[in-house]
Amino acid sequence: MKKGKLIVVSGPSGVGKDTVVSEYLKLHPEDVLSISMTSRPKRDYEVDGVHYYFRTKEGFEEEVAQGNLLEYALYNGNYYGTPKSEVIKRLEDGINVILVIEVQGARNIKNMLGKDALLIFVLPPSIEALKERLLNRGTDSMEVINERLEIAEREIRENTFYDYKIINDNLDSAVKSLENIIKNEINK
Ligand code: 5GP
Repeated sequence: MKKGKLIVVSGPSGVGKDTVVSEYLKLHPEDVLSISMTSRPKRDYEVDGVHYYFRTKEGFEEEVAQGNLLEYALYNGNYYGTPKSEVIKRLEDGINVILVIEVQGARNIKNMLGKDALLIFVLPPSIEALKERLLNRGTDSMEVINERLEIAEREIRENTFYDYKIINDNLDSAVKSLENIIKNEINK
């Protein structure tokens, strides 16, 4: 049986990558999203096991020690990682798995899997547009927003190893681009 494809989607915080991916998944329910593990505090609207598997810092380190994560990274002082259980069996069963992860994790996946992973970076139309989105979202303090903007500028500089880039200036066309990229790569 043909193995599934591992699809990595990255982009700065606030760029709307989660929305692009969730709209894509409404059109392609045969593909699945990997739920990550994190040690960052849960936001009010988030549900454990739905948005993330939430762990304490020590609990996360224990998962790492047990070899349960495919990749992980420290982002803005918190751990984020991909549980192997979200990915490996599904790929073997021929299911495409999407990871929405930051740049260091994506680099690790690329080093591990090479051409077997498809890496896509979602860009904002501008840094100003990104700042506005983070402010409107209202989930983070000004301090956290400024840290996220600094990380965003670094991520935009460091994204040269991605296979494709999509500019999210319009949701529908960003979803369409993602759809076309995945379709073309899978049929290769
Ligand atoms: P947030 O705190 O906004 O939910 O996520 C912060 C960053 O961590 C985002 O760029 C998000 O894509 C990334 N992230 C989420 N899950 C993972 C993961 O499993 N591994 C890595 N490396 N990054 C992740």
